Amino acid sequence: MQELTHYIGGEHVKGTSGRFADVMNPATGEVQAKVPLASADELDRAVQIAAEAQPAWAAVNPQRRARVLMKFVDLLNRDMDKLAEALSREHGKTLPDAAGDVQRGLEVVEYCIGAPQLLKGEYTDSAGPGIDMYSMRQALGVTAGITPFNFPAMIPMWMFAPAIACGNAFILKPSERDPSVPLMLAELMEEAGLPKGILQVVNGDKEAVDAILYHDVIQSIGFVGSTPIAEYIYGTGCAQGKRVQCFGGAKNHMIVMPDADMDQAADALIGAGYGAAGERCMAISVAVPVGDETADRLIEKLVPRIEKLKVGPYTAGADVDYGPVVTAAAKENILRLVQSGVDQGAELVVDGRDFNLQGYENGFFVGAHLFDKVTPDMDIYKKEIFGPVLSTVRAGSYEEALKLAMDHEYGNGTAIFTRDGDTARDFASRVNVGMVGVNVPIPVPLAYHTFGGWKKSVFGDLNQHGPDAFKFYTRTKTVTSRWPSGLKEGGEFHFKPMD
Ligand code: NAD
Repeated sequence: MQELTHYIGGEHVKGTSGRFADVMNPATGEVQAKVPLASADELDRAVQIAAEAQPAWAAVNPQRRARVLMKFVDLLNRDMDKLAEALSREHGKTLPDAAGDVQRGLEVVEYCIGAPQLLKGEYTDSAGPGIDMYSMRQALGVTAGITPFNFPAMIPMWMFAPAIACGNAFILKPSERDPSVPLMLAELMEEAGLPKGILQVVNGDKEAVDAILYHDVIQSIGFVGSTPIAEYIYGTGCAQGKRVQCFGGAKNHMIVMPDADMDQAADALIGAGYGAAGERCMAISVAVPVGDETADRLIEKLVPRIEKLKVGPYTAGADVDYGPVVTAAAKENILRLVQSGVDQGAELVVDGRDFNLQGYENGFFVGAHLFDKVTPDMDIYKKEIFGPVLSTVRAGSYEEALKLAMDHEYGNGTAIFTRDGDTARDFASRVNVGMVGVNVPIPVPLAYHTFGGWKKSVFGDLNQHGPDAFKFYTRTKTVTSRWPSGLKEGGEFHFKPMD
């Protein structure tokens, strides 16, 4: 049995707490490794090392810091297959999807290579007689991030690349379900030239998270995961005076208007609803066809496509559409919610409950499900299922469809499929959701824009990556300076406007 480590001070360090979590192979249901769960003391050791290393890193000029990221991009490309394989083995997603996970992180690293430009401050010449005013963005110090299981490469990179480009040290507490890729990323950053102690990985669970929340030296916390934990981390971290940004769960609606290209809409729903077994925060989990005729046409197109989906382990080849879900508990939760949908009166048009994959009976595979005639009072509508389950809610009109998306407590992503520009524009303008797709089912913004939902999908103000990340990972300092000849004439006691 492989025993994983922490990555502290540039070395793989064995856990000393005596507590471990099982890292599963979701395809076989076997335990493949044990990951140590850090104590507050182990976290503290990483923080001390980070605090010692960070000032020298912040003093390295931004262009040289960016060069480390340039080299890191090369190394990610060199090791892409290795990273994707390790990711699939612990997460279960297909190899092309795992490579996509690395790639969408890599793109944020590329963006952060622009740090010298992004960190430039502002300057006002002659703000007053002989007075200049300038602001600069300075690193926070020691920062930390807590990441979810579903993007074990992308989300850590979304956090540590901008944090480190800005001159901070970063401590990553990855998901205990798939910690190997985060450890590999930390090694690659050092191979790229990052000084020891600037990026460390401390594995753990709530104990390590609480140690982060209450550690005096840690200045900021980034979190991505489920909404209840996001709410806890935001509340506790802010109460400790830290800068915190938390991104939570989702229930993304896709509105299908009667004039939509129905084949295009159905294809989009298949990818966005069932890709990665529905374990994406930007997955579409609710289809909202407008009008019964649209609904009937859509369902008719969806059913054969769903029945053709190939579910299997990542090792089974390129034609596998999606893999297992992450744990036995996740599978149980999904099937329990499916049962609740049936019990509460939704129509289960495609029933994947009996799905069994020969040779992988102990794996956490879940068949694809499609519900029709779901109503907003049902649990399958209210809760994030995070599995291959698509719910259809029939809306009588565009306004009714819009209201559904707006009234849901989550507001991460949404999409509209239509040929009518006016409807699309109205939707994009009025919907209270952070990321909107027009004939695009998963509207994940690229690295140079920012990523973030609204409502219960987010706690905090600034988004992830793009220019917001450089704001989140720096503090502004504004200097007012005067070099007059007459300063010796005496002090000023009145708070004066600049004339
Ligand atoms: P999770 O909330 O269970 O875990 C996320 C992190 O929090 C992990 O590192 C975990 O160790 C830690 N954690 C878990 N329980 C904790 C507790 N009680 N106290 C302190 N820390 C705790 O989420 P997950 O299952 O890993 O990920 C799936 C969730 O993440 C879904 O809800 C999904 O929508 C969400 N997600 C959101 C985004 C986004 O950008 N909005 C992106 C990806 C995933």
